[in-house]
Amino acid sequence: MNRQQQITVLGATGSIGLSTLDVIARHPERYCVFALSGFSRVAELEALCLRYRPRYAVVADAQAAQHLRGGLHDAGLTTRVLFGEEGLCEVAAHPEVDAVMAAIVGAAGLKPTLAAVEAGKRVLLANKEALVMSGALFMQAVRRSGAVLLPIDSEHNAIFQCLPGDYARGLPQVGVRRILLTASGGPFRETPLAQLAEVSPEQACAHPNWSMGRKISVDSASMMNKGLELIEACWLFDARPAQIEVVIHPQSVIHSLVDYVDGSVLAQLGNPDMRTPISHALAWPQRIDSGVPALDLFAVARLDFQAPDEQRFPCLRLARQAAEVGGTAPAMLNAANEVAVAAFLERRIRFPEIASIIETVLNAESAVAVETVDAVLAADRRARELAGQWLARHA
Ligand code: NDP
Ligand code: MG
Repeated sequence: MNRQQQITVLGATGSIGLSTLDVIARHPERYCVFALSGFSRVAELEALCLRYRPRYAVVADAQAAQHLRGGLHDAGLTTRVLFGEEGLCEVAAHPEVDAVMAAIVGAAGLKPTLAAVEAGKRVLLANKEALVMSGALFMQAVRRSGAVLLPIDSEHNAIFQCLPGDYARGLPQVGVRRILLTASGGPFRETPLAQLAEVSPEQACAHPNWSMGRKISVDSASMMNKGLELIEACWLFDARPAQIEVVIHPQSVIHSLVDYVDGSVLAQLGNPDMRTPISHALAWPQRIDSGVPALDLFAVARLDFQAPDEQRFPCLRLARQAAEVGGTAPAMLNAANEVAVAAFLERRIRFPEIASIIETVLNAESAVAVETVDAVLAADRRARELAGQWLARHA
């Protein structure tokens, strides 16, 4: 590779965004920051702009843009500041961009991620919600545009690494029996069930192995994260839900496995540090240093596995159901979950009520087939409305 790759980092102020910038900074000869986006953390975004000197920065609205422009101008930077969804889509699809890290959290990332896909970029997908919501349309757009889609989610990145290069021919055709999707079980894996109604947002966000944004941390505690990942894996690897088994593995050292018909099981292992999948996807098919220390198997000493308990983790069951129903069901599941998690983080509901809200929303409306992104967004809005009604009644 003789030219610096131009990278857009959507969600640069977040956990994945910062890990991405850490990797990029280790390889200045290979990568150059083209654009950075933030949302609420404008001061942090300004500091990142001073350090990485991107061509573009994108913030939430005109007022934040005005503020950031002032700061960057005073520092002598010529970074252009855009705002809103339009600004995000512009830097995702810009002709000079080679790769886009899609690391906005939640449904807000859908349009910018799709813009990168439609522009045929190398898309590093962390924003699993975008794929969960719009699965079929998203994958059609990948095929149409020739975008190179690389999974950042550690499990999917692991599966990608354990599959043969021609897996797109179909899992049975390449001899895959099933995919084993590992899950840590989160902070409440062993909490007595009766105590789950009392757990706080701080406890839910204290993940035993990973340091992540607040929304995905709560999703990990409820195991909705694994549910969303199951749907994500179905789309990425053209698998049926029944071909994917969730395995609780509390150490988070094996990031997932692929089971082949001859009895071989391939796994990808590593320290739980997102810089590994980020580096893998940035450099693929090459390998680069990520800054992650070598895995010390003697320190790990043992690897444990157990089956998930659906009574403890009803969100996993709800997600599997939505995956099987298809159509608008995953978008509704995702939207209801986003509303419920936000309400839990604001202490308006108790932890087990996250699943109650999602189940109520899914039962209130039957799923329909999705033909357009507008239909996906309509399902998202409807689910948010239904979840809002639940909150108005109960919270
Ligand atoms: P964070 O909450 O740390 O970061 C989210 C990013 O999105 C921030 O840059 C935030 O800006 C921005 N953002 C939030 N809301 C909006 C909005 N409405 N419009 C535009 N931008 C917005 O999350 P993570 O980095 O942990 O996660 C990002 C994505 O990656 C999620 O989809 C998550 O599921 C996925 N992921 C994360 C992993 C991890 O280890 N963290 C692992 C696997 C997947 P600001 O902070 O300025 O408000
Ligand atoms: Mg994951």
